[in-house]
Amino acid sequence: MATAKPLTDLAYDDLAALTSPRLVTELPGPRARAVMERDATVTSPSLPRAYPLAPARGAGAVVEDVDGNAFLDFNAAIAVCSTGHAHPAVVRAVQEQAERLLHYSASDFYLPIYSEVCARLDAITPVVGETRSFLTNSGTEAVEAAIKLARRHTGRQYVISFIGGFHGRTYGSVTLTASKANYHAGFGPLLPGVLYAPYGYCHRCPINLSYPECGLATVDYIEDVIFHRLARPDEVAAVIIEPIQGEGGYIVPPPGWLRKLRDLCTEHGILFVADEVQSGMGRTGRMWATEHVDVVPDIVLAGKGIASGMPLGAMIARADLMSWDAGAHGSTYGGNPVACAAALATIDLIEGELADNAAVVGDQLLHGLRSLQARQPLIQDVRGIGLMIGVEFADAEVADAVEMACFHRGLLTLRAGDSTIRMSPPMVIGREQAATGLHLFEEACAEASTGGA
Ligand code: PLP
Repeated sequence: MATAKPLTDLAYDDLAALTSPRLVTELPGPRARAVMERDATVTSPSLPRAYPLAPARGAGAVVEDVDGNAFLDFNAAIAVCSTGHAHPAVVRAVQEQAERLLHYSASDFYLPIYSEVCARLDAITPVVGETRSFLTNSGTEAVEAAIKLARRHTGRQYVISFIGGFHGRTYGSVTLTASKANYHAGFGPLLPGVLYAPYGYCHRCPINLSYPECGLATVDYIEDVIFHRLARPDEVAAVIIEPIQGEGGYIVPPPGWLRKLRDLCTEHGILFVADEVQSGMGRTGRMWATEHVDVVPDIVLAGKGIASGMPLGAMIARADLMSWDAGAHGSTYGGNPVACAAALATIDLIEGELADNAAVVGDQLLHGLRSLQARQPLIQDVRGIGLMIGVEFADAEVADAVEMACFHRGLLTLRAGDSTIRMSPPMVIGREQAATGLHLFEEACAEASTGGA
């Protein structure tokens, strides 16, 4: 097929303003196919590619591929490009910082922008009282930092994480991760001292009970089984929990569940670590997902959306927990000044209007998807807060068919968990773009229900 004229001559504002996808080639187009061919010979086969998208440029909630096809991006590069693709304020901050100082290690010297970001995080953190922060290059490094700090501070060895949870892929975090056996396969032995508890996943309750009659029994499991049979609570350093499970399927635990877990931690002096790498930074319409349920963590972990796509993560902890001494932990690149500049601009934008927009457009999407559920029997569950929305189907095959049908209509979504499609668009997404996305998603479900095009 001949290559159609790419859209790359479209100005940023015009690309960002598209309210519908514009597909100009078959998918994947010829240039995308060429990228895929080279990729197949030189990249690690461990990379879990979802579908043949070869992104080249982005503006707001729109992504253009190498062939000039413009997609509505309901992924935000997996909840990373929080302020939209190449937000001018973020790009400007990055450019200005890059011209001044590309890098100097904050581990060994007093990099001013590093402490500026930590001060901003202190101002927005859900942790109560004074905090201190450790900056990283990624979410997984923030998780590693939390495991190390929790063990070192408490002198306890065990860490509890949750079935279905995802915390990263380095050795400590992948041990905590319990969303797919493939993440562990062939890598054992993993980090010792990690125990797993059931999550509050009501749609498919791991212990086959129903809310509210269950009395939040998945939390009781920690006392009845883990503390009683596996590890005494005074040997447990931390519980590390996603307040909304991300990769596990965009699962929102039932009312009272996180509160009960927090109380259990408090009772036993166990640190409550909220992994908000995916749910944080305004995505749910508030800066942190824990704010929706009034639960105060001891440590909060941020990543993904914190710097709009520049690599940055953070462990923000109660100041009194930071009892480790100089040299106990550090990082060459963590808190790189360019990533820090992007973070400062990102936080300004989120506080300015984007968290509010996430709440408004998130409600629009949730409402639209719930009414679609009423007429589309393939959809089993719709859940989420703000722009962190999951649509669950009967099985992986159906979810994959819907994901692929969305792609072919120019709508980028991504599977999470066993059979859920997640929607995590950039927080700049407009109402018209959201309406188009809903319409395309409905068409994709209809296509999947008839067994494909
Ligand atoms: N924690 C959560 C909740 C995540 O969703 C992720 C990534 O998806 C991570 C940690 C790991 O982050 P990264 O991939 O930046 O290492």
